[in-house]
Amino acid sequence: MKLLVIGSGGREHALAWKLARSPRVSRVLVAPGNAGTAREDGLANAAADAIPELVALAKREAVAFTVVGPEAPLAEGIVDAFRAAGLKIFGPTRAAARLESSKEFAKQFMQRHGIPTAAYAAFSEPAPAHEYVERQGAPIVIKADGLAAGKGVVVAMDAAEAHAAIDRLLADRALGGRLVIEEFLQGEEASFIVLADGRHALALATSQDHKRLFDGDRGPNTGGMGAYSPAPVVTPAVHARVMREVIQPALAGMEKDGTPYSGFLYAGLMITGDGRVRVLEFNCRLGDPETQPILLRLKSDLVTLIEHALSGTLDRAEAEWDTRIALAVVLAAHGYPDAPRKGDAIHGLPPPTEDSHVFHAGTALNGDDVVTAGGRVLAVTVLGGNVRAAQRRAYEIADAIRFEGVQFRRDIGHRALGGPRK
Ligand code: AMP
Repeated sequence: MKLLVIGSGGREHALAWKLARSPRVSRVLVAPGNAGTAREDGLANAAADAIPELVALAKREAVAFTVVGPEAPLAEGIVDAFRAAGLKIFGPTRAAARLESSKEFAKQFMQRHGIPTAAYAAFSEPAPAHEYVERQGAPIVIKADGLAAGKGVVVAMDAAEAHAAIDRLLADRALGGRLVIEEFLQGEEASFIVLADGRHALALATSQDHKRLFDGDRGPNTGGMGAYSPAPVVTPAVHARVMREVIQPALAGMEKDGTPYSGFLYAGLMITGDGRVRVLEFNCRLGDPETQPILLRLKSDLVTLIEHALSGTLDRAEAEWDTRIALAVVLAAHGYPDAPRKGDAIHGLPPPTEDSHVFHAGTALNGDDVVTAGGRVLAVTVLGGNVRAAQRRAYEIADAIRFEGVQFRRDIGHRALGGPRK
C-alpha cells in the first residue's frame, strides 16, 4: 500500500521512515518533505501544499491513508476536507483541533470536564489584563490565545515582564488579539502522547523535550533543541494518573461535546514533587523533536496501530517498545531561533544504523548537496543502554556533521541524570 504524510519537518521524516518499515507499505509520499525524505529508502517527496492539492494527490496516488504532521493544516480543516472526499486520514477535525488552536477553548474544556490545569482568566483588552496581573502578582504566565509556533507564551518572573508581555502579545495582530493569563506552576515537565480513535487511547512512550537554546535550560525559547524517551518523572503511578485524570476525561469530554477526538493527542504536563499532574497545554499532533526518539523505540508496526485508530479498535491494539533509551539532539542553523540562515552546505551525514538515524528537518537539496533550509536542521537520534551511553553516541555523530554556524546543546537528557530542574 501507499501512504501519505503531510509536513516537512523532523517529526514527518521520522513518521514516514517508521511507516515505510512496515512490510505492507510499498511507498510513503511526503508532501512537501525535505532532503531527508527525498533520499530515504521507501519515501518520495510530492510537491503539494494547499488542501485541495493534497486531496487530489491522495486520490491520484490511491493512498490507503494519510497522516498529518503539523498543527496548521489540522486547524485549517484538512481532516474534514479529506473525509468529505471519501479519503482516510488520521488526525482531528477542525473542531476537535481547537484543543490546540485556541488556548481559551482548551482551558474552558478542561474546566468543564474536571481536567487538572492552572487557574486562568482570558482578556481582549489591555486594562483588565494589567489589573489582573496587579492583583495576582508574579511569577505569572501570559499566553496568546491562537497558534503562535511556540512564540506566544511568556513565563514572566516579575510584574514588569508580565505587563510588557500583555502589551506585546495583544499588539501582535497575527496572534488573534486575545490572551490567557494563568497561574505559574512549578514542577517537572513531560510530554505524554497517545493515539486516539474517538473513544479509546493507546499511550505512546513518554518523553521530555528541551525548549531553551542553551545548555542548563538557559537562553531563548525554541521549537525544541532535543528530546529523550522515556521520561523517568512519569513513573507507573504517574502514568496511571495521567490516563485516568487527563486522557480518558479528555476523550470522553470531546465525545460528549459532539467533537470526538481522533488523531495523536499530546498533553504537555507539569508534574509536581508529590506526583500530582496538571495540563499545561494540549497539542493535536505529535511533538517535534519528541517523535524522533519515540518512534526509534517503537517496535510495533505503526501502520497497524493507525489502522486500529482509524477503525475505532485501539482498545485491541498494543504497542511494543525497545527497552533502551532513545535520545535526539537537534542541530540548528546559524541565527536560530530569530533569523536562521539558509543555504549552508551540510557535510558528514552518516548512513542510518540499527541504533541511530539522522532525521532531517530544515534541509533541501541543491543539486546533489544537502543544504540548510530552516531553523532546526537535523535531529541526530540514537538508542543507548542508558542516558550516558546514548549521549556519547549522539554527540559522536553530531560532532562529525559539519555546516557553517551549526548550534546544538551538549546536555540533552540532563534531567534523567539529575541535572538542574526548572
Ligand atoms: P505551552 O505552549 O502552553 O506549553 O507553554 C510553553 C512553555 O511555557 C511550557 O513548556 C512551559 O515550560 C511554560 N509554561 C506554560 N504554562 C506554564 C505555567 N502555567 N506555569 C509554568 N510554566 C508554564
